[in-house]
Amino acid sequence: MSSIWINGKLVPENQATVSVFDHGLLYGDGVFEGIRFYHGQAFMLEAHLQRLQESAAFILLQIPYSNTELATAVKMTIDAYAKAEGYIRLLVTRGKGPLGVDPAYCTTPTVIIVADELKVVDEATRQHGINAAIVATRKIPNTCWDARVKSLNYLNNVLARLQIRNSQAQEAIMLNEAGYVTEGAMNNLFIVKNKQLLTPPVTDGALAGITRQLILQLALENGIDAAEKSLTPYDLYNADECFLTGTGVELLPVRMIDDRLPGACPGPVYRQLSQAFSGYITQMTQGKIHAQIL
Ligand code: PMP
Repeated sequence: MSSIWINGKLVPENQATVSVFDHGLLYGDGVFEGIRFYHGQAFMLEAHLQRLQESAAFILLQIPYSNTELATAVKMTIDAYAKAEGYIRLLVTRGKGPLGVDPAYCTTPTVIIVADELKVVDEATRQHGINAAIVATRKIPNTCWDARVKSLNYLNNVLARLQIRNSQAQEAIMLNEAGYVTEGAMNNLFIVKNKQLLTPPVTDGALAGITRQLILQLALENGIDAAEKSLTPYDLYNADECFLTGTGVELLPVRMIDDRLPGACPGPVYRQLSQAFSGYITQMTQGKIHAQIL
């Protein structure tokens, strides 16, 4: 059973409700984080809270709790969940207000933390890799809102996922207005070309994924040449390897993109990083790593 914390206290699921006048519901006005916990410990929590604060700052939303208070609340929610592994959804909405988009009349943000089960990728899929497709839905340009803002408004991503509904693909890759690759609808994207690890810069329209950042750090520590670089569909179709990263999927190899086969799946760089990632989780949950990502 899930455990839920709302505005300062744990509440049973049937009492975990928000107002129909909450602007998070009415307008998607709010920000969120998806956080995983391993062995009862929230993974990369500081990095997630930092991103939450930055998303909130962008939309001029003052979170009524400090990061220390939020970390305590997350721990309390995980402890109440009573399972060692799972997923945390932490969201902050603009709160209750009159009908009308103006946030000026919303005085108290709603802060919600849910701990629940995570549908994890099964081992066979992870070994085989998934299919991905480049979809027609373009990423909302950074000139509208910066892709680093993890806002409650995911309609753009929902539309991308709808496009692959009746296809063989499990992830939709979105391009920006200029035709450059941004990311998957729910995950960041990496390719390997000539032994170099490449991922689109956030300025092209990718979320500053926590897993993405960790992978770039682990590449550095493991002697893998890595760079942020604008990528086109051509680069994807001719990649030596391709994989996705995200809190839920961790690292997930891509076997085929639009019927083209990247070189190897899972490829050697994926394997090396995947192993480094598992090692990092173990060390972090054993308390051997205190420093978060660079
Ligand atoms: N891009 C999008 C659009 C996402 O929703 C997610 C999942 N949070 C990611 C990338 C991966 O980010 P992270 O590694 O922080 O989970």
